[in-house]
Amino acid sequence: MERETMEFDVLIVGAGPSGLSAAIRLAQLAQKQEETLSICIVEKGAEVGAHILSGAILEPRSLDELLPDWKQLGAPVETEVSSDRFQFLTSSGAFKLPTPPSMHNDGNYIISLGNLCRWLAEQAEQLEIEIFPGFAAAEILYDDSGAVRGIATGDMGVGTDGEPTDNFEPGVELVARQTLFAEGCRGSLSKQLMQKFNLRDGIEPQTYGIGLKELWEIDPAKHQIGKVEHSIGWPLDNQTYGGSFIYHIENNQVSVGFVIGLDYQNPHISPFEEFQRFKTHPSIRPLFEGGKRISYGARAISEGGLQSIPKLTFPGGCLIGDSAGFLNVPKIKGTHTAMKSAMLAAEAVFECLQQTESNEASSYAEKFRNSWLWDELNLVRNIRPGFQKGLWRGLISAAIETYFTKGKGSKTLNHHEDHLQLGKASDFKPIDYPKPDGEVSFDRLSSVFLSGTFHEENQPVHLTLKDDTVPIKINLADYDAPEQRYCPAGVYEIIQQDEESMLQINAQNCVHCKTCDIKDPTQNINWVTPEGGGGPNYPNM
Ligand SMILES: Cc1cc2nc3c(=O)[nH]c(=O)nc-3n(C[C@H](O)[C@H](O)[C@H](O)COP(=O)(O)OP(=O)(O)OC[C@H]3O[C@@H](n4cnc5c(N)ncnc54)[C@H](O)[C@@H]3O)c2cc1C
Ligand code: SF4
Repeated sequence: MERETMEFDVLIVGAGPSGLSAAIRLAQLAQKQEETLSICIVEKGAEVGAHILSGAILEPRSLDELLPDWKQLGAPVETEVSSDRFQFLTSSGAFKLPTPPSMHNDGNYIISLGNLCRWLAEQAEQLEIEIFPGFAAAEILYDDSGAVRGIATGDMGVGTDGEPTDNFEPGVELVARQTLFAEGCRGSLSKQLMQKFNLRDGIEPQTYGIGLKELWEIDPAKHQIGKVEHSIGWPLDNQTYGGSFIYHIENNQVSVGFVIGLDYQNPHISPFEEFQRFKTHPSIRPLFEGGKRISYGARAISEGGLQSIPKLTFPGGCLIGDSAGFLNVPKIKGTHTAMKSAMLAAEAVFECLQQTESNEASSYAEKFRNSWLWDELNLVRNIRPGFQKGLWRGLISAAIETYFTKGKGSKTLNHHEDHLQLGKASDFKPIDYPKPDGEVSFDRLSSVFLSGTFHEENQPVHLTLKDDTVPIKINLADYDAPEQRYCPAGVYEIIQQDEESMLQINAQNCVHCKTCDIKDPTQNINWVTPEGGGGPNYPNM
């Protein structure tokens, strides 16, 4: 069946902070030059914000640059950070540590990033930007010269067997002079582009973390609006990078989360269970007792920083935001950096559209090099790799980088590939996680329920395996099937059938965090977009 084609000047894949900021900046530039520019955004979530999960503390620097009158325009950015606490946890105690400068949040706000995106989408629509939620960009389209000419959205109504059902509707081809990929961390099309255009040649590997988050309504007597707490230490061992966050937002709500570096070695680690266990710590538990958990979700974050940012442009398009990996790890902030990269890309794309010699927005790289964003990421580039040899050496190296060399040293530390760090199951002791108590700690399935995740069941599994035998022959045999534990949604289960072990993939539970695509030890799992609109339905995460 023929696919319908729609044409635009600029197409953006993903309505997160980067995609929306790029669209808004492009429309502003066009308005200033009294030009018309047709701009379209496709978003795989059922609505803008449905797939957005973040902490989130917002450093408003980029928002100030993009929409300086955001306060008057009613942006949902209201709760100013009132206090910062950084602590080290042991199994029974909590010790206050000096808050590193990068984690000071004076002038920052605690927000729901989903709600900020919903509001940015309204601003974009007022600038006549077209937004199509519920459409997943499933395929990259190339022209005869090999340049990107747009994307095709996935077909709808294809059954589990790959055959069209009665509800079949072919995907739509969206073509544009420039296509910006704003898919966030480990974008499925961005991954293909990096390979096709060798964008990672000579670049350090990207390294990732998995972030799990819950939203709670707590006893008003315990709530302190604007309070920010971070911790390192227990329940993680000293070789595993990660820590927690607790942010007190409006309406007696608290956003609590845990981030674990995906370069962890022990295959018995379950990031989900580590997070649940964290909430049972004697200094943390009382905050949640008597409260109600409202929402749950998970999402990977890019931790590689400056040295892992690939070449940003290629003929016909570019990568922006976490698709390229602009997150500042010591700050645990990627929103202002994603937005800034998007604005810089928008300026370069606008220039590119004014001329006919080249279809590559090459000035984006130079604009990045001359921006505060480059300076900010350069300053902290050695902090995350310093933790490769464990917590204590990482803290010492971070202190030297922060207080003495201040990022000015000539050396840039390397990263390693997360999936290659996983050790054999027989070399590590299994971890005996406590059973959920149903009050502050919970099981995976009741958690996924709170993410509002829904996928049409009659569709091909979107967690594709390059080789069906690997899950049992390698993953189970060598690593005790780590996908059973690192997936925060219980998608992967080893079941017994006719006395044989089999991997069952409960694809309908997938919250689109992308961890399996990153951590699978042989890179056998390839996450592809399911039918548009499927996935989590986060309210205000
Ligand atoms: C647990 C956690 C806590 C965090 N805390 C903070 C914090 O406190 N402060 C901070 O500044 N940052 C924080 N971050 C990081 C921040 O959320 C990200 O850096 C930021 O969201 C990146 O923006 P983005 O637009 O690049 O990508 P995203 O926000 O991931 O948005 C990408 C969008 O593209 C859509 N999409 C993806 N692929 C496709 C496709 N093929 N077709 C159509 N649509 C697609 C997605 O559905 C999504 O809506 C946190 C992240 C996590 C996970
Ligand atoms: S299947 Fe993969 S992408 Fe989906 S929730 Fe599990 S780990 Fe995340």
